[in-house]
Amino acid sequence: MAIVESVGKIPLQDPPEEEFCAADLTWTKFGNAEHHDEVALIPYDRVDAFIIGECTNVECPTRFHIERGRKRTIGNLKEYKDDEYLEYRLYWCSFGPENYGEGGGILPSRRYRLNTRNRAARPQSMRGCTCHFVVKRLYAQPSLALIVYNERRHINKSGFICHGPLDRDAIGPGAKKIPYICNEIQQQTMSMIYLGIPEENILEKHIEGIQRYCGSDAKVSSLASQYVHKLGMIIKRSTHELDLDDQASIRMWIERNRKSVFFHQDTSESDPFILGIQTEWQLQQMIRFGHRSVVAADSTFGVKRLKYPLFTLLVFDSRQHALPVAWVITRSFTKPDVSKWLKALIDRARSVEPGWKVSGFLIDDAAAEIDLLRDIFCCPVLFSLWRVRRSWLRNIVKKCSNIEIQREIFKRLGRIVYNIWGGINASLALEQFLLDFVDQTAFMEYFKVMWLPKLEMWLSTMRNFPLASQEASGALEAYHVKLKAKLFDDSHLGALQRVDWLVHKLTTELHSSYWLDRYADESDSFQNVKEKYIASTSWHRALQIPDYAVSLDDKDHLFAKVVSQKDSSLTHIVWNPGSEFAFCDCSWSMQGNLCKHVVKVNMICENLKGYQPSMSFRSFQEVLMDLWKKPVDDSFALDLSLAWTHQMLDQIQKQVELNNSTDIGTVVNNMPLKWVSKKGRTYIGKPSSSLALPHGSSNTKSVVVYKKNRKRKRLSRLR
Ligand SMILES: [Zn+2]
Ligand SMILES: [Zn+2]
Repeated sequence: MAIVESVGKIPLQDPPEEEFCAADLTWTKFGNAEHHDEVALIPYDRVDAFIIGECTNVECPTRFHIERGRKRTIGNLKEYKDDEYLEYRLYWCSFGPENYGEGGGILPSRRYRLNTRNRAARPQSMRGCTCHFVVKRLYAQPSLALIVYNERRHINKSGFICHGPLDRDAIGPGAKKIPYICNEIQQQTMSMIYLGIPEENILEKHIEGIQRYCGSDAKVSSLASQYVHKLGMIIKRSTHELDLDDQASIRMWIERNRKSVFFHQDTSESDPFILGIQTEWQLQQMIRFGHRSVVAADSTFGVKRLKYPLFTLLVFDSRQHALPVAWVITRSFTKPDVSKWLKALIDRARSVEPGWKVSGFLIDDAAAEIDLLRDIFCCPVLFSLWRVRRSWLRNIVKKCSNIEIQREIFKRLGRIVYNIWGGINASLALEQFLLDFVDQTAFMEYFKVMWLPKLEMWLSTMRNFPLASQEASGALEAYHVKLKAKLFDDSHLGALQRVDWLVHKLTTELHSSYWLDRYADESDSFQNVKEKYIASTSWHRALQIPDYAVSLDDKDHLFAKVVSQKDSSLTHIVWNPGSEFAFCDCSWSMQGNLCKHVVKVNMICENLKGYQPSMSFRSFQEVLMDLWKKPVDDSFALDLSLAWTHQMLDQIQKQVELNNSTDIGTVVNNMPLKWVSKKGRTYIGKPSSSLALPHGSSNTKSVVVYKKNRKRKRLSRLR
């Protein structure tokens, strides 16, 4: 075949099938006599169809991940070749490029090595596969994509087929019929084992998974049964202690889990210890759910009990539940240190998805390096009240015995916080508070030591930053509570001071549990896991309470009653309704948590006259009113402001789900532009944006939106 030297001479191909693969295309040699590649030219919007087709290769079923990505903006290049890229993506078969198997450069970790003699049970998935291709969206013609196939065979460096039914090492000697167990089934099986699900259930799901690509027979089942059993044994015997010395042990772990470490700084005279962990799956979730959305921090977890405190970065998944996407273990929160690992994390995301951008960063600690976060993420910083609320509530319940006093103290503290927007004199109110409850010595002692010195700082943070919603606060608290339950169960109290134990716990049990939750939800399997996962935040539990179960005290607005759904003879009293500082007498609330009764009552109060709006609504109102009050004369500046405001509204409509709230409505009705509110809300999937747009273009827009959603759906299949 002749070598073609210009893109214009490569035929454009658009196979009619919904999905297609390399075999459906004619490949052209492109380049010159010394160097040329095998390429094919397809419409850019068919790239996903090609990738899905390549994944469903019968001989080597696999997935492709983006190993590297680069982007340019149009107009950046003055001169360019006709094959120059606008977007460049290197896709690699997910059985590579690393080789964790026998003969691979990277040692399998010890828990896999326990059984080195028996290759059948080794669950590693990185087989050193070299199959990869590049997709270039053309700079000169962005509607076209040039596929450059560098290695089409699924072989390792030695040239052997390294996975799939043709891989002779697939699951052990003599088991040619069984394909190598793919990443997803392996992760599923491991997750189920870590979560303590009975072996027969695990086996059933495992076989179901394998049969999806190799049919069923007795041999398959018996080998699968051996595999699951052995994997279970290995995991049971696995230990966090790779070495008696914690430091040496953690170094070994890092060496063996390079792909899950995005930043590491060993302790030295000048530098403190920092370990940043993010698995491949977490990276994908961060890119997927963090992009143009909110990223949150759960800071300073376990300051007192762990050797080093834990910092978690979270995103809000398709159900707005908090999903941990990176863990940082360190004692240092100085600016230079934080900026080092934050930059490493963002670089990592952008090396895969160059345009990755966060819309807001949610913090829970007023002492956080806010300027730094704003600079690095280039987005506004929001503040969540959950940590303050939780800390106060827990201590009130613990340190005051009388429930009436508990309610009153919490309410008064709430009033001081609400006062950040003016009203009563804050220091006077605080003084009065200290006087009124002077006999509550235990609580006052705590409050004076822990809060009084820094209260002004916290209040000013609340005043100066937008405040997060109760749904987000509840989701963060749910993560925090889960983390606590997993880490501080009584069985490992002796290990709390070891970093290797913490790392092990996070990357095995906790990671598995989130993986399985998401998997169950997205594949609509494991119904009980899915249900538990959906109900894991107080917001979702509150949605299950019907409105008629709530009755309000109409006269003084002092309390609300919520009839229990399980036992209708039981009623919970929510004191101080319509406030973040509402106090419920149920046992969940008594442990310091934001309970579903409080959330439900506040949902109802939001829409009633005579109740104050929640802190987050107030904060939102403040921002909008600020915008509204800006004195603009009738100059060109007004046109610009109008254009920007219009853009902003448009974006919010697309990005944020809105409760049909009269509070926001009244504010926005005052603004020059009409706000189109969305009735009801979707609970599944990212917010859809097929809202009516203020101007006549809604039809064409919604078609685009539909296409985008379809693309997202397809992309999620690739992950
Ligand atoms: Zn491969
Ligand atoms: Zn409650």
